[in-house]
Amino acid sequence: MREDAGYRMQDIHASCILHHTSCILLFFLIILSPVISSSEDRIEVLDLKHWTSKGYTRVVVDLSAPVEFSKNRIANPDRLYFDLKNSRISKEIKTTLPVGDGILKTVRAGQFNQDTVRVVLDLEEIKEFKVFVLEDTAKLVIDVYGHEKAANTHDLAYAVKTIVLDPGHGGHDPGAVGPNGLYEKDIVLDVALKVRTILSKNKKFKILLTRDKDVFIPLVERTAFANSKNADLFISIHVNASPKKTARGIETYLLNWTNDEESIRVAARENAISLKKMKEQMKKYKSDVDMMLSDLRRDLKRDESIKLANYVQGSIVSTLGENYNDIKNLGVKNALFYVLFGARMPSVLAEVSFISNPAEENLLSKESYREYIAQAIADGIDTYASGAPQMQKMAGRHISVGAEK
Ligand SMILES: [Zn+2]
Repeated sequence: MREDAGYRMQDIHASCILHHTSCILLFFLIILSPVISSSEDRIEVLDLKHWTSKGYTRVVVDLSAPVEFSKNRIANPDRLYFDLKNSRISKEIKTTLPVGDGILKTVRAGQFNQDTVRVVLDLEEIKEFKVFVLEDTAKLVIDVYGHEKAANTHDLAYAVKTIVLDPGHGGHDPGAVGPNGLYEKDIVLDVALKVRTILSKNKKFKILLTRDKDVFIPLVERTAFANSKNADLFISIHVNASPKKTARGIETYLLNWTNDEESIRVAARENAISLKKMKEQMKKYKSDVDMMLSDLRRDLKRDESIKLANYVQGSIVSTLGENYNDIKNLGVKNALFYVLFGARMPSVLAEVSFISNPAEENLLSKESYREYIAQAIADGIDTYASGAPQMQKMAGRHISVGAEK
């Protein structure tokens, strides 16, 4: 136990008073074999980070491998703590993170005993928290909500100002790679930059990108960025891939449960886990995911995401359809994308063509095709933001899942 981390002895005895109702636990984790015990084999806590905004703070603990943990909330003073099993803290890191945002006072981490690192969140005032471990990246993610939650859900369509565009992948992660060597990360960055250029002409919008160059950004940091900027919309841009070379077309996703094999496959790929693992986790943690989704419904975020998805999807399909033959409308779909977990604003993920299809890869390599896609995404966002009455009709037209053009 490290004195400098400021732990109190009563933390040890407080394991019985966990507030089950106030947290939703999403275990997208690997349970590691507990046989290892030498200090070299322990999971290392590599970094502590936080993103803060009005009513919301995300804390991310970077790890050398996914970890098993227990959680607790105790009073006097009010704090949450997480005991990470079979772990040790890196000597390199800063163990106390001052936050002071009205939700959290500080985040602390320390070697609690030989095999346990304890992460403590000193609370100011919170409504609820959610904690999950992501499979693809070794991270413990703790989302903490203050009391302002769910404010501002009225008239979302009329209050769009800050828009976060999220070009997928980057850096060491190329995303999907086409048969002729085209990288998803390059295509989606170019499209996102073009969307920014187009939307920036409208002075009422503030356009932010999760990345504007070829760098890797972990999935949890993308949503955290959007939340911390109090963004009104989040649009993740990707290109699709399939083992079937003939697969082609445009589809737009929102975060929701699905039984559709193809949608699960797309989410697994974007989440950087195997299809098998994805299905195992969906089965194992169905009730936790259901709780998160009912949160979304309660906050109206899902209805707004459906609307946004329909405008974006409809706009891409109609714009490309006016300029190219045989553009296939795969419709608006549901799947569990990590990058949309915890987003506090209407959020969608667009798959703007199949890079695995040689003909669509060829189109994606053309400046003009990417320009059309960017213009279409910008138009879809603009239509959503302007809340024009004719949009209702358009939404109805495109709402059917898997609609063929
Ligand atoms: Zn992708």
